[in-house]
Amino acid sequence: MLVSEFMLQQTRVETVLRYYDGFLAAFPDLHALAAASEDDVLRAWQGLGYYGRARRLRALAQVVRERWGGELPEDAARLRELPGVGPYLAGAVASIAFGRREAAVDGNVRRVLGRLFDLDTPSPARLERLAARLLDPRRPGDWNQALMELGATVCRPRAPRCAACPLAAWCRAHRRGRVKQRPAARRRAAPAEVERATLVRVRDGRVALERRPPGGLLGGLYGFPGEDLPAGAGEAAARRALSDAWGAPPAALAAWPPYRHVFTHRAWTVRPFLWAEAGGAEAGTGAGRTQRKRAAGAGASEAGASEAGLLWLGRAELAAAPLPRAFEPLRRVLLEGSRDILLM
Ligand code: SF4
Repeated sequence: MLVSEFMLQQTRVETVLRYYDGFLAAFPDLHALAAASEDDVLRAWQGLGYYGRARRLRALAQVVRERWGGELPEDAARLRELPGVGPYLAGAVASIAFGRREAAVDGNVRRVLGRLFDLDTPSPARLERLAARLLDPRRPGDWNQALMELGATVCRPRAPRCAACPLAAWCRAHRRGRVKQRPAARRRAAPAEVERATLVRVRDGRVALERRPPGGLLGGLYGFPGEDLPAGAGEAAARRALSDAWGAPPAALAAWPPYRHVFTHRAWTVRPFLWAEAGGAEAGTGAGRTQRKRAAGAGASEAGASEAGLLWLGRAELAAAPLPRAFEPLRRVLLEGSRDILLM
């Protein structure tokens, strides 16, 4: 249940179904998940996006192993102390898995309650209180699931089926003709636009990736090196930025068509540039981290200044690397694209 709940955050059921069994086969219980490396967990999560969920799930397994001997606590308050577990998930696990008298307010329940009580912008705390008041103490898990199901299938966001609703007789918004306005939609800020100058650096059949710093956007995942630029910066600015930051001769950078990738709070216009280098000292050294020091001072090789922290991946390693979806188009080109940039 925990795994499906984590996967279902921000991902549709049909997508989750494609990954759920494989993930459980790889990590059949919390012990296996706690013992797994982060790379293995991210690899099994690959394709689902929002990788922070995978990292939190693994962190949760480790806390449960250390603090609770691998057994999930039954109490909602203790569940809430675990990484990635908020009030909804704690209530859902406590009530459905352990029969505890806890409410679970997800987006569907929020909508049902908002309409049932004709509330405009109810606070989470108020919804929690209302849900707790309505809870059937004999079957809290079934009750919570029934409310969620009602919201998903009857009290739908658009076109609610009030004529078929078992709550119609008590529903204030229905009685007052305000169903469509309840609850008021939460305004979501538009994602911030960023132009991402991106370097596809290939040398002797290997491509250079870097591991993004932990925390922040795509933290801890592999990625193509690059620079964030203001929206609309354009090809010339992106070329300059990559050249300055990575020591690539501007003329050696071949522009690939840009594409967009939208995260929850950020939208990237990815501007990829291929830098196909002639073979060098690092070529063919495997996927290990290069050891060359970041050069400093006059006379240092410009290319050398860009080496520290890069990982050189061959074909099989790139295919298996946990890579965010934002970079999938580039991986596809490298693995399936034109012959002169195919990796070994
Ligand atoms: S009567 Fe309509 S608005 Fe009210 S809970 Fe049922 S489906 Fe939702």
